[in-house]
Amino acid sequence: IPDIRRHLERLTAEGVDVVRVMYPDLIGTDRARDVLVEHLPAACEHGLAFCRAVYHTSPQGDVVPVAGGLDAGLPDVTVRPDLSTLTVLPWEPGVATCLGEVTDPATGAPAPESPRDLLRSVLARCAEQGLRPVVGPELEYFLLAPAPGTPTGWRRAPEVTGAVYTAGLRADPDNHLLRTLRQLRDLDIGVITGNHEFDGGQYEINLTHSDALDAADRSFRFKAAVKELARKEGRTATFMAKPFGDAGGSGFHLHLSCEATGEEGGRNAFDDPGGAYGLSATARHAVAGIVAHAPALAALANPTVNSYKRFGPDTLAPWLIDWGLDNRSAMVRIPPERGSGARVELRLGDASANPYLLVAGTIAAALLGIRAGEEPPAPLEGYGYDTARSGLLPTTLSAALDALEADTALTELLGKGFTSSFLTYKRNEVERFQRHVTDWEFTEYAYHL
Ligand code: GLU
Ligand code: MG
Ligand code: MG
Repeated sequence: IPDIRRHLERLTAEGVDVVRVMYPDLIGTDRARDVLVEHLPAACEHGLAFCRAVYHTSPQGDVVPVAGGLDAGLPDVTVRPDLSTLTVLPWEPGVATCLGEVTDPATGAPAPESPRDLLRSVLARCAEQGLRPVVGPELEYFLLAPAPGTPTGWRRAPEVTGAVYTAGLRADPDNHLLRTLRQLRDLDIGVITGNHEFDGGQYEINLTHSDALDAADRSFRFKAAVKELARKEGRTATFMAKPFGDAGGSGFHLHLSCEATGEEGGRNAFDDPGGAYGLSATARHAVAGIVAHAPALAALANPTVNSYKRFGPDTLAPWLIDWGLDNRSAMVRIPPERGSGARVELRLGDASANPYLLVAGTIAAALLGIRAGEEPPAPLEGYGYDTARSGLLPTTLSAALDALEADTALTELLGKGFTSSFLTYKRNEVERFQRHVTDWEFTEYAYHL
């Protein structure tokens, strides 16, 4: 309670009268309640009630079952504000936001589909191995403007192409990126740089590296903030993997290294000037693990039906299961820095991934490789996309979900409760998509057949 009092004093001094308590659901969407400040102490003591099912936002507004959700009669989960994450929202006067801890009211234990707790449990397994993962996220997204009368109602904004790394008004005529960067800095989520990406209306923003849970928290808050800022200007920021057939997709690259704990405290356990490629055995085993578990990992890193349209040759997104030294055509790139900067960049994930699941899955795959102690295959040389050399990533969400279910070593680390909820939710999504008749089918078949 004294702790709550201290926070309340600070909030009152800053003119805050509402606290937005948000948590990531199974698919990484931010779910929240706005709590009047005078009710914050009660919310901390008893928690806030939310419905345990995961909603999706289709026009039908269906509720999608997770184990213990719909089948159990839509019970509650309890969300308790984590006041250590309180931040004043720079763009919404009088409002602060914080993350919530999601528990099952029946047991008081973390809800099985709570992505933050899933990541915590994987990190605890790393700690047993004397490793503390460090993660640096990079996210891409498209900014859309309303386009009344078009099939989707949205268009890329602006439609400048070929402007990758073009800073300023030529690529971003009304300074969307500058405004967004400054607001994100004030939100204090560790944003470093922003740039225009390859396609019209596509941007990338990089976050600092930090402890894995903190990096996932910041990525989650980043996505919610960018969407909110775009809405404030009447636009939409989308992190969907491949919103346009004639443009590149949006990636969610993760940079991963591990700090050694214990006696070697603080040293980058991925660096070894005497090791093959200047990488430690731990780093090479981590790469081997990521490569070996890639088909299952895709279910978490590429979690939508649309995700699989981003993969392909000549896209800068991966297509094959491979790794290379400073090679952007590979699924895993080892950036050229060594020493404290020695790290692995996983280019598999797309921006639609739930940050917690992407980070947890990547670290779990790396940990399995470290435990197995195997060397990775030879690195890719030159421009990749040679199907004779490397296997293909799954080509559909359905195949990736099957690969996840079949990967018992990985699902054991992720836990049965999570895996079954995730598979149930995502297989329902695949089924709904399979029943949907697309424009393409109508155009292709209706007239000629
Ligand atoms: N847009 C690409 C992707 O989907 C990445 C481009 C880049 O390397 O920045 O992963
Ligand atoms: Mg990029
Ligand atoms: Mg990158």
